[in-house]
Amino acid sequence: MQYFDPHIHMVSRTTDDYETLARMGCVGMSEPAFWAGFDRGSVESFRDYFRQLTDFEPKRAKQFGIQHFTWLCINAKEAENVELSREVIAMIPEFIDKPNVIGIGEIGLNKNTRNEVTIFKEHVDLAVQYDLPILIHTPHLEDKYQGTRMILDVLCSDSRVKRDMVLVDHVEEHTIGLVLEAGFWAGMTMYPVSKCTPERAADMIEKYGTERLMANSAGDWGPSKPTAVPDLIMVMRKRGHSEATIRKIVYDNPLTFFAKSRNFKFTPRE
Ligand SMILES: [Zn+2]
Repeated sequence: MQYFDPHIHMVSRTTDDYETLARMGCVGMSEPAFWAGFDRGSVESFRDYFRQLTDFEPKRAKQFGIQHFTWLCINAKEAENVELSREVIAMIPEFIDKPNVIGIGEIGLNKNTRNEVTIFKEHVDLAVQYDLPILIHTPHLEDKYQGTRMILDVLCSDSRVKRDMVLVDHVEEHTIGLVLEAGFWAGMTMYPVSKCTPERAADMIEKYGTERLMANSAGDWGPSKPTAVPDLIMVMRKRGHSEATIRKIVYDNPLTFFAKSRNFKFTPRE
């Protein structure tokens, strides 16, 4: 089955991974900007990173027939440095009209600090100003519920934010309901050790249905499995879900959501 991975960090993966994903049916992907494993020292580091995301990765993906899209931001972990964050936010418009840029992300909170909230709001402002979709990172483990509540409060109290242009990622059983009920899109991240497994993702699909819901691997440089979406396809087939239901989660929904970005130009396979 053809599928789209809406959240995967290919800068940290090898070219062999692109080949494997293509063999597994991956036809498109989107890569949010995120932490590099270390805090970057200057705005120039981010400018180079954005060149990698908007120039090099789409070319690498294309060799295997995969269409690569991206999101730009300074992530919540580095948002503690407010001065640097503001320089990065001021530089992002240089890249906004590159052909593979969908919107602003993955923004959100990490430790739910005051500086993170300040920078989160400034990113939301940028997205609203340019009428771009937003991709949200929700915090890990013990900070997730509280952080998700704080993020949704910021978004819901800003009447300029169009909720169907926001994807809230890394939802789990205790946060998915909040996100969907408020009218946002939700993404389930399937990791081998934390977040959610393909089985738990299938459980959530069975409980919440397929509207405004998608699944991703978030494949990065930590313990992660870039082929987690094909794993979910297998789990859903084993449970007897129809091909149309599976395709809605792994292909139709990502395309419907990304089409809200004026820059999203995807060519479906014949
Ligand atoms: Zn991510």
